[in-house]
Amino acid sequence: DTEEATNQARIVAEKILDVLTQPHQLDTYSHLSTSSIGITLFGHLQEGIEEPLKRADMAMYQAKAAGRNTFRFFDPSMHQAIAERANLEKDLREALASHQFRLVYQPQINDRAESTGVEALVRWQHPQRGPVSPADFIPLAEATGLILPLGQWVLETACTQLAAWARQPVMAHLTMAVNVSPRQFHQPEFVDQVLATLERTGANPHRLKLELTEGMLVTDVEDVIARMMRLKHIGVGFSLDDFGMGYSSLSYLKRLPLDQLKIDQSFVRDILIDPNDAAISKMVIVLAESLGLTVIAEGVETIEQRDFLSGQGCQTYQGYLFSRPLPAAELETFVQSRLNSQA
Ligand code: C2E
Ligand code: CA
Ligand code: CA
Repeated sequence: DTEEATNQARIVAEKILDVLTQPHQLDTYSHLSTSSIGITLFGHLQEGIEEPLKRADMAMYQAKAAGRNTFRFFDPSMHQAIAERANLEKDLREALASHQFRLVYQPQINDRAESTGVEALVRWQHPQRGPVSPADFIPLAEATGLILPLGQWVLETACTQLAAWARQPVMAHLTMAVNVSPRQFHQPEFVDQVLATLERTGANPHRLKLELTEGMLVTDVEDVIARMMRLKHIGVGFSLDDFGMGYSSLSYLKRLPLDQLKIDQSFVRDILIDPNDAAISKMVIVLAESLGLTVIAEGVETIEQRDFLSGQGCQTYQGYLFSRPLPAAELETFVQSRLNSQA
């Protein structure tokens, strides 16, 4: 993965520069030095070690030419991409401090057309770039560790909203699904933070559902189960997001204290035209049934998709067919108006 390798190299280069620019004590002298680093990627071409070293050397001279005490990639377009990424990272840090994030809520609808819950999705309103998609900044937040404060903000905001809805008769029954990223889930304090957030906001743990992804559950399974059990114990539910995309082993799936499987939107998209996608969604539904879990399909855009899934035994849906993700006030109107139309 060129992008990931490039970024890892940048992070290492920044660390090395950082350490080398610290003053070091030589006897009675405090000595300062600067360094220039050249970077190239290798491994995807059939080449020996000579060529990559030459490229790194050339990049190092570019770093010197650029004023020293910096790093350069051999490939200028790579450098451009990495510079943009570094900019986005800087903006992301500022965004947290200056409240540029907000949450929108997408309704989840059952077979009787009732709203049963929502999924909270984060939005970044960048002052210059405009709206930035979470698909673009969540991976970056994950790579830089900013996902920890951001994820905590999301949890706090979602739980505050949940507690507010508990006081509105029309909204009180809704569950709140919150996406949890791997790095967030694996930090040692995660469970304590969720417990403290529930306590602080007064949200009902039975209405909170954490969306986890397959990849984060396959290592340290014992530890994962222990964490999930602590939260489960006070009522928090778990949904397995993007199910079918990863490499779940069915035997460990059985051991996880899950409540729900979520059929990924990539299967729903072509469910009417691709027999493989139809077979996978059917498999997920049967699997959920036999494990005693509920199942929800995401990315449902047409009535035909909904009917097909319903015919396969699916019970809950989420997608543009029903609603796009909405700000809280609009979601309230959505839920209210569906109630009225049913009455
Ligand atoms: P996801 O959890 O799989 O979320 C579903 C995505 O599908 C959302 O994109 C949603 O807006 C979109 N979607 C919903 N209905 C439809 C539909 O009918 N058709 C199509 N084509 N798309 C639909 P969004 O909001 O851009 O989020 C993208 C991803 O970013 C999410 O995928 C999730 O992985 C991540 N993400 C979003 N919010 C958070 C968050 O608060 N924390 C973390 N850790 N990740 C988040
Ligand atoms: Ca999700
Ligand atoms: Ca998903």
